[in-house]
Amino acid sequence: MDKRPLGKTGLDLTLIGIGGFHLVETPMAQVDAILNRYLDCGGNYIETAADYGAGLSEQKIGRAVAGRRDAFILASKTTARDAKSARRSIEKSLENLRCDHLDILFLHAVQKPNDLEQMLAPGGALEAVQRAQQSGQVRFIGITGHGHPAVLLKALQQFEIDVLMTGMNYYDYCNFPQVEEELIPLCRERGIGLIAMKILADGYLYRSVRHALRYTLSLPVAAAVLGINTLAYLELDWALAQEFRPMTAEEREKWLAEAPELGTKVCRQCRKCDRPDWRPSEFFALEGLIDRQMDDGSIPEPPDYALRERLKNWFNQADEARERYRGLLQRIDPQVDYRHLNVLCPYGIDIDRKLKRVHAKLGDDGRIV
Ligand code: SF4
Repeated sequence: MDKRPLGKTGLDLTLIGIGGFHLVETPMAQVDAILNRYLDCGGNYIETAADYGAGLSEQKIGRAVAGRRDAFILASKTTARDAKSARRSIEKSLENLRCDHLDILFLHAVQKPNDLEQMLAPGGALEAVQRAQQSGQVRFIGITGHGHPAVLLKALQQFEIDVLMTGMNYYDYCNFPQVEEELIPLCRERGIGLIAMKILADGYLYRSVRHALRYTLSLPVAAAVLGINTLAYLELDWALAQEFRPMTAEEREKWLAEAPELGTKVCRQCRKCDRPDWRPSEFFALEGLIDRQMDDGSIPEPPDYALRERLKNWFNQADEARERYRGLLQRIDPQVDYRHLNVLCPYGIDIDRKLKRVHAKLGDDGRIV
């Protein structure tokens, strides 16, 4: 399995890592088998979080592979925002994981401006994390966030970060294009290591695993973290990573055009329908913020319906979307017929209908159309 450097840390990660979230629901014997098989194959990155199952994921990892601690790079996360809670969280993680240091400690789920302010304030979590780094309990400091990366972009300007992890997949590229267009280039420029999560968009891309992994590993990331909860999935994912070849620019475009989950409903943010004084894609990006463009008014098969309903508001950014929509509304009138724009979209999107659906979702006087 190929390894890639993690920014300036000096660590090299195998292309796929194991994420600990799903280990909470996985029986202990299976966790043991999966993690040990992963290490036997040569995998070297395992990550978890203090919050996953209130420490249960960490405890299971500690029980399964603490005896092989030198064979892998270990990361955990804390959602604590003040120094005292962060110190307790780090101590507890080390106890649960049965080790004396973490290779990476992530400040976890930093998504609201308030999260960042609290962490950076005097007596905030960053103080405790930096002290843990000085004492050797933590080697590198990371940050994670989900959805729109505005707060992560701000964090990069405010303190020294070694590693950044966020969702990266072809579906959410259409919802949060700033991840690939702004966040990744900035991290590369600063030598910050990048780790991808949510390559299947929280499971939404379950029909396209091969393409999804290939798309994400074609980005300049050190590794993609996968939620593996059976040995069969481990074998499959490992085989896919072994056969990985980067997508060319043409292959990427082709996949963005053909991906079944995108169809004629999801705006690819290509901006080919830009008007001189407004851009439909800006409206559709707000739809991405509120429900990841998932609710298109169609009635899918029951399993897809259930998945869509569960995931569409996963990142809880609706308030921000509504506020920004009020500003954008000065540029168009949702009652006007915009069907003449439809021919501009190479993906067959009914731009007029979609603008009206966005208004139904975000406008104060919105009505479902
Ligand atoms: S042309 Fe289609 S895909 Fe491109 S920005 Fe406009 S609506 Fe989105």
